[in-house]
Amino acid sequence: MNIESGTVVSFHYTLRDAEGVELESSRGDEASVYLHGHNNLMPALEAAFDGRTVGDVFTVELAAGEAYGQRDPGKTRRVPVKHLAFRGKLRPGAVVQLNTSEGMLPVTVIKAGRHSADIDTNHPLAGQALVFDIEISELRAATAEELAHGHAHGPGGHQH
Ligand code: ZN
Repeated sequence: MNIESGTVVSFHYTLRDAEGVELESSRGDEASVYLHGHNNLMPALEAAFDGRTVGDVFTVELAAGEAYGQRDPGKTRRVPVKHLAFRGKLRPGAVVQLNTSEGMLPVTVIKAGRHSADIDTNHPLAGQALVFDIEISELRAATAEELAHGHAHGPGGHQH
């Protein structure tokens, strides 16, 4: 079986920045799962999966524009601290979650006061080139329900 539109793909990845510093990894954890061909990954990353099969190991390098985009210096704002989800102390440079009408959004704290905080709503990885080391662990055909929803279900996928 090779990856094509409608394949549910399980994979492990290690994400590094352009200097080779590891940012996150799924190894030792649950594999990531997505439905191929339904815009569930960054397009340049998804294209690199096309036609691959189980056991394939490959590296994908994305320019900032293909990953989380360029930093927009205008995307800073002041919000009430109660709209932020974080553990410990709110301090400059910390990445916390902003509660928005579309769900939780990772943001970076610029300045924290007692009741309000200045935050940068650019994605924390905006402006960065990224390198993914990928290993495909499992493939299966999507169910009719997954195809209708446009995403994978079950462990590692959408749970609803
Ligand atoms: Zn669904």
